[in-house]
Amino acid sequence: MLKAFQNQKLKVGKSFEKDVKPVRPITLIYEKLIGGKMRKSGRATLVCCPIHGEQHPSCALYDDTNSFTCFSCGEHGDYINFVERTQNVDFKQALEIIKNL
Ligand SMILES: [Zn+2]
Repeated sequence: MLKAFQNQKLKVGKSFEKDVKPVRPITLIYEKLIGGKMRKSGRATLVCCPIHGEQHPSCALYDDTNSFTCFSCGEHGDYINFVERTQNVDFKQALEIIKNL
């Protein structure tokens, strides 16, 4: 009985991670959490890098792959990494922030 319950719980936990991962466009995440000038350039949106801090935009946000790359400091990753690094939070907290945007 107890074992069956635990198995069930495990299953639910697993599908939660997979199914409920919130997705928001990285440009929207930038707008809401950081703000500031955004300039469209091809498939990228250029912004001032919030990770190393700069005056001239050299951080590219890509909505098509939901990722970012900073050409100055070399930081890169997906939209979840972006929240983790700019907000200084762990993976779970990042998901929570994204969900509430
Ligand atoms: Zn940077």
